[in-house]
Amino acid sequence: MSYSDDSLKKAAETKEWLERKINELEIELNSLQDTLAVVNSVLKSSSFQPAHTITKSNSMVNQGSLSSNSYRKSCNVCQVEIEMRKIDDRWGAYILDSDERHKCDNDE
Ligand SMILES: [Zn+2]
Repeated sequence: MSYSDDSLKKAAETKEWLERKINELEIELNSLQDTLAVVNSVLKSSSFQPAHTITKSNSMVNQGSLSSNSYRKSCNVCQVEIEMRKIDDRWGAYILDSDERHKCDNDE
């Protein structure tokens, strides 16, 4: 198997181009990660909640990372386990794994 000088030259140029491109993308990736870190810290310090925590289907997906916005407890009235969730700065009692309100606990 042999390559012409021309194709070797092309391969060398392609290698240089790829290395330059990878370097550029690494710089861009670092910059994007820095920006993401800034955005995350802004969001963390506010009461912002990602939209998917409010929509119906995915409300439990990020449960672990939302511990400050939700917790489980027993209903004072019927002793069933319920989940307290903070949505739009208001706490409400919800049925576990559901977006339905737990109705008998109106005071919270
Ligand atoms: Zn209850």
